[in-house]
Amino acid sequence: MLVNDNLTRIKQGLLANVTVVAVSKRHPKELIQEAYDGGHRDFGENMVQEMQEKHDVLPSDIKWHLIGHLQRNKVKYIVDYIHLIHGVDSLRLLEEINKRAANIDRVVSCLLQVHIANEDTKFGFDESELISLLNDASINNMNHIRILGLMGMATNTENQDQVRSEFEGLELLFKRIQQEVSHPKVEMKHLSMGMSGDYELAMECGSNMVRVGSLIFGTRHTE
Ligand SMILES: *Cc1c(COP(=O)(O)O)cnc(C)c1O
Repeated sequence: MLVNDNLTRIKQGLLANVTVVAVSKRHPKELIQEAYDGGHRDFGENMVQEMQEKHDVLPSDIKWHLIGHLQRNKVKYIVDYIHLIHGVDSLRLLEEINKRAANIDRVVSCLLQVHIANEDTKFGFDESELISLLNDASINNMNHIRILGLMGMATNTENQDQVRSEFEGLELLFKRIQQEVSHPKVEMKHLSMGMSGDYELAMECGSNMVRVGSLIFGTRHTE
């Protein structure tokens, strides 16, 4: 029941509007079931195939969040059940999600990933790309997607000032879009930022969706 103790402790420290996505990647389905039995429903995975295998055997009312990079050729595997895709990082990916969702008459919720870290390896839009995407006429006709917010990952560093300023930058952008973009497919509702090491700081900077793995499930032994 350690998992539930960890979840309870984390939830006690959260503001009321903050959702915890329990990041279960590379942890066994038994631990997910344990958290589910404790009442938790939002789980995050970063690999399509692993999420698929878990989805097939776990309760059907789990809300699955895809938090990792999504390749266009894998959209078809998750489109029928995914709750929220956090890592949308191109217009072409959005088009593919829309097309696949249209085939099954679903509307799929997406977050746009913004590159905030001072590292080349992280996926995501920069600010100007994001603004031009949101102003791109082609999303007007995408009736099977909703853009419900932004996601970002801070630099992996001990420097709290740097992490804070990256989070604050994303919060500013989120608020700016809230105020300036009026679009039927866009509703800036979720700001997904913060992981085990920085979720409290992220919450101070306006995050309302934290993706916490190791603090709940323990250390991952394989990466
Ligand atoms: C793995 C992962 C997390 C969770 O990381 P922890 O440090 O274990 O909390 C959060 N977000 C993304 C995108 C991840 O890949």
